[in-house]
Amino acid sequence: MRVTLLGTGCPVADVHRYGPATLVEAGGETWLIDCGSGVTQRLLAHGSNGAKLTGLLLTHLHSDHVVDFIQLLISGWHQGRAKPLRVYGPRRTREFLGALLEAWRPEFEQRTAHERRGGEGLRVELEEIDGGWTLETPGLRIRNVEVRHPPIPQAFGYRFEERGEDAGTATVSGDTAYCPELIELARGSDLLVHEAFVHWQYAKRQPDPAKQQAMRSYHTATEEVGKVAREAGVGHLALTHWVPLVFDRARVVEDVRTEFHGGLTLGEDLMSFDVVRGHVALARSGVQSHL
Ligand SMILES: [Zn+2]
Ligand SMILES: [Zn+2]
Repeated sequence: MRVTLLGTGCPVADVHRYGPATLVEAGGETWLIDCGSGVTQRLLAHGSNGAKLTGLLLTHLHSDHVVDFIQLLISGWHQGRAKPLRVYGPRRTREFLGALLEAWRPEFEQRTAHERRGGEGLRVELEEIDGGWTLETPGLRIRNVEVRHPPIPQAFGYRFEERGEDAGTATVSGDTAYCPELIELARGSDLLVHEAFVHWQYAKRQPDPAKQQAMRSYHTATEEVGKVAREAGVGHLALTHWVPLVFDRARVVEDVRTEFHGGLTLGEDLMSFDVVRGHVALARSGVQSHL
């Protein structure tokens, strides 16, 4: 199993950290989790593309996680996808993507007619799912839980279990505050990809305690995320979805190390991890940043 952090940023635009997106390649399948800003460029930089996706899993409908959906759909069609894009997402995904697709329908119809090309690859095969969902694919078992990201009504974390003797397990948190259900989902995972809120760094530019607390209430502070990894008993913790984007790295490591002494990576865009049972190795170090 290979897990790649395609985008480790948040809604704030940045040249080093693109919008949230993670890729899981395992059992001959390629699953994309979220499609934040710049995801199609990051897929190419990783050596993949939108036509190679087995499917797209959405954690929730916050803009930073879905903003490049149409670009992903259209570029995948240009890259050769001749069948609908499979998408799984929370309640209201149908309403949300339906409105987007409706807005683009005249362009799709005009383009396919004028260029004399089939439009199957511009269609979406959508399934709205709830927490506790399981998908058995030829290569994987994928499960989810509802995580805690209020006031967003429904947000998911996903767990991927590859089949086979030495097969690895990885869990992706999505956006969440400290979440016991996510800890259960992640239990014993070789790799946990978890969001990180660097609240003391955030406080330097946002002095209003009420606004600091509002952010903290639906994210996981760097002091808490080590506790999540320890309680879940994961082998390796990779942090992503950095808020804010620039921070004191040594202090983040200190925060996590008060609770967790397993493998630790402060995620950067295009970092890849090879995951087998009991072992996680950094396969590629990612975009060189100047953080
Ligand atoms: Zn969110
Ligand atoms: Zn987010």
